[in-house]
Amino acid sequence: MTKAHIPWPVSGGLLLSYKCSAACRHCMYACSPRWKGDWITKEDLFQVLSLLAGRIQPGPWGEQTVSLNYGLHFTGGEPFLNFELLVEAVQMAEELRIPSTFVETNCSWCGDDEMAREQLTLLKEAGLQGILVSVNPFYAEYVPFERTERCIRISREVFGVNVMVYQLAYYNRFRQLGIKERLPLEDYVALAGDERLAEQVELFLMGRAARQLREFYRAYPARRFFHEPCQPPFLRNWHNHFDNYGNFMPGYCGGVSLGQWKDLDALAREGVELDEHPVLRFLIAEDMRGLFHFAHDFGYRESQDGYVSKCDLCLDLREFLVSKGDFQELNPREFYTHVRT
Ligand code: SF4
Ligand code: SF4
Repeated sequence: MTKAHIPWPVSGGLLLSYKCSAACRHCMYACSPRWKGDWITKEDLFQVLSLLAGRIQPGPWGEQTVSLNYGLHFTGGEPFLNFELLVEAVQMAEELRIPSTFVETNCSWCGDDEMAREQLTLLKEAGLQGILVSVNPFYAEYVPFERTERCIRISREVFGVNVMVYQLAYYNRFRQLGIKERLPLEDYVALAGDERLAEQVELFLMGRAARQLREFYRAYPARRFFHEPCQPPFLRNWHNHFDNYGNFMPGYCGGVSLGQWKDLDALAREGVELDEHPVLRFLIAEDMRGLFHFAHDFGYRESQDGYVSKCDLCLDLREFLVSKGDFQELNPREFYTHVRT
């Protein structure tokens, strides 16, 4: 039996569910309103937080500060869609002394000042250290920008310096342009004269982006990506994700499971069994050529349209394999249903 060592996670994100108020074209996890509302149960919430307590490292400036690749963040989907659960998660994390906690939001819930202040203050009082507010033209298709502005303004009142705006350049740009409402991507491109959108929005061409943003990128034959490493590395101890279905996901790789987070101790101590998880064997080795030939043996044929990134090729191979067999490492299955829509 061959086993691969899995590093102990020292930071990461907890997906409370994949359900979202938006269906952004660049979403790594293919979230949308169409997902079932399978919110993490309170029992699972307590279990996963207990497993992570004592392992999660604080931000470089201390446990009451936040930083993207440190601490623990609550995410989804849109976590504010189930505010009660979010508060509960924050309280549990606080009781378990998990440092540098923050919530990631698209601000769609931020309809008026009073309600926003009330909810953000409640979270702060429950022990949340900060917030990450998402801003770019893909969110702006779904979220009126005035809600984003409100969320940032009131978050700064409540959390002070512990407010991360990602990407700040787009926040400033939208303000300059006087945008207030939702804005289709094509209208934004026309308004901003932004012909090089693909180069300016910082994103990984994976998940739904690899399906819905292809037109902005040049495609290449599969072999171009055979020897390219995953960036960031597939196995790492920082910024991994844990979902409401029990999956321990490597980095940002939606639809890939290293195993059940309930088995985190065993995965880190003994490693993951590769003979039983053939797709993981190739992914862990970052061997796209091997995965291509593995899928080819099941009947996969190279796309004549080419591939815009290594992750695009990887996703195409995984989508095909999901249609051919029951690979436990390719979960949650619903990701593969929603990644094209
Ligand atoms: S990127 Fe964020 S806001 Fe957009 S669909 Fe995904 S989870 Fe929702
Ligand atoms: S190529 Fe596959 S395994 Fe590697 S980062 Fe992209 S999606 Fe993840």
